[in-house]
Amino acid sequence: MNQPASSDAEKAPGDCSETLQELQLFLDGELPEGERAHVLAHIEACLECYQAFDFHAELKQIIAIKCRNDPMPGDLIGRIRQCLDDEPAEGATE
Ligand SMILES: [Zn+2]
Repeated sequence: MNQPASSDAEKAPGDCSETLQELQLFLDGELPEGERAHVLAHIEACLECYQAFDFHAELKQIIAIKCRNDPMPGDLIGRIRQCLDDEPAEGATE
């Protein structure tokens, strides 16, 4: 009946640096299922790791979407062309 009185009992399972290391593997889908549950259990209880996870997951999603679509939106290319056209040929006069 000797319960630990330290606040460690409130802490998330696992430790943060370990979780953050597994995070990349998790997002790459290379983490074994057992380890995935471990990471999920930790980020559910640890806001810091959750935010890191959220950030990386979103970043990965954005990159995936951008890579799937045209890397250069047509609108952007059009604007660049327009800028080049509008630019007076400075320095060309002698
Ligand atoms: Zn953590």
